[in-house]
Amino acid sequence: MSKIPNVVIVGRTNVGKSTFFNRLSTDKKSIALDEEGITRDFIKEVITWDSTIFNLIDTGGIRFKKTKDPLLEKVRAVAEEQVKTADLVLFMCDGTVGPLQEDREIARFLRRCAKNVILIINKADSLATQANLHECVTLGFSNSITISAQHGTGIAEVLEAIIEQLKQTTEPAAEEKSLYSVVILGKPNVGKSSLMNLLAKQERSIILDMPGTTREALSQDIQFYNKKIELVDTPGIRRKRCVDGTIEPLMVKSAFAALKHADIVVLVIDASEGDFVDQELKLAFYAFEEQHKALIVLINKQDLSTEETQRTLDLKLDEYKYMFKHIPLMSISCITEKNTGRILPLLDTIWKLYSQQLNSDEVTKLFISKLTKKPLFHLSQKLVVYSVEQIRTAPITLVLTVNNPAWFKDSQLGFFENVLRAEYDLKGVPVKFIVRAKYKRLAV
Ligand code: GDP
Ligand code: GDP
Repeated sequence: MSKIPNVVIVGRTNVGKSTFFNRLSTDKKSIALDEEGITRDFIKEVITWDSTIFNLIDTGGIRFKKTKDPLLEKVRAVAEEQVKTADLVLFMCDGTVGPLQEDREIARFLRRCAKNVILIINKADSLATQANLHECVTLGFSNSITISAQHGTGIAEVLEAIIEQLKQTTEPAAEEKSLYSVVILGKPNVGKSSLMNLLAKQERSIILDMPGTTREALSQDIQFYNKKIELVDTPGIRRKRCVDGTIEPLMVKSAFAALKHADIVVLVIDASEGDFVDQELKLAFYAFEEQHKALIVLINKQDLSTEETQRTLDLKLDEYKYMFKHIPLMSISCITEKNTGRILPLLDTIWKLYSQQLNSDEVTKLFISKLTKKPLFHLSQKLVVYSVEQIRTAPITLVLTVNNPAWFKDSQLGFFENVLRAEYDLKGVPVKFIVRAKYKRLAV
């Protein structure tokens, strides 16, 4: 899985970071970083330019000097981490005033901590900038571009420079991972560990406790047709429930962590109970819909299933039909080993579907022709798709270039997803859409 590179904008207040950011983004989004006590939002947007995709992150006017205020210190530490892990930093300064003490502090910090920096000298529309250009260059970054965020000059040049840098620093996407990760999810006693042991025994070659994961999640590598698969059990979910029947938030957190690294989620249900708990189901569908993981459902303990449990289970499955319609279900028994020989081949098929590369031209034609036959409207305005490009596999990630991204909400994207599912085999695998406006090349 290749990760989307992060490009972080850094600079003191008032240099024009938001103006620049808003030029590049079409739809502003703020993400509260997943850190306790962090109230400040970092602004993040996915940008595509010439088939390259990256996250643009605005750290705001963060000071990089240590402070005594614990909250500010936390915010600073998060911003510092962002800079340290960024693939590229855009360091913006204000050309009309030249470098101030604070700019020099930031520059020092970046020289120490950032991998790649482009200096952006903003406000080139002002005459004063010419006089200060030389001063800005003394900040000590060889790569610098002069722009006017307000007037849009130099923006294309910055984009080209970003793409150029990212090409040099990020690894090309692997054709196919040799190792994919499968997480087994289910409430206590449904047979998760029995299943793990069985699968490991079937194709036993390596059984390996991953360092540091033995306490949190039980993980084994197994070999199947020359492919290494990592199997992870989720013991977090196994611990006992709270008195009110809900799963402790902490446990859910631990299951979340396991899900985050998974490619495929296997939800195990106990057939003998004729029922399943919504919590596990919610987690599984959260993984599928929100985290874009592939999903299969195994109905275990088939040997204990009776007519009565089968009937109640069928009813329950029917209740969730709308969720299950894209998901493969298989009945198994870890005791009689019914169907257990079919699990690894099923995982293998799902992995192939999950990591498939669709033909972008074909998908573009498909969407355009469907829209011609069945136009979609926002109020009275027609939704237009100009092109579709698959920029990633596992999960299949499609960038739709459209007339107005704000008109492409869940229900419209659901339409395109159905079109895609009718045309391609996507059983058990999600599709991720990124919607972008058509960029006009800006004058440099
Ligand atoms: P931030 O605090 O770094 O996010 O800066 P803002 O984007 O809020 O901009 C600060 C001020 O500088 C605003 O009044 C902007 O209108 C102005 N500004 C931003 N870019 C330019 C530019 O290219 N030229 C000029 N003249 N002013 C700009
Ligand atoms: P986990 O808590 O989900 O990991 O569940 P375990 O694998 O520990 O299994 C719980 C119990 O169910 C054990 O006593 C297993 O022997 C039993 N079990 C697992 N799979 C099956 C099955 O297919 N049929 C029957 N009858 N029992 C099973």
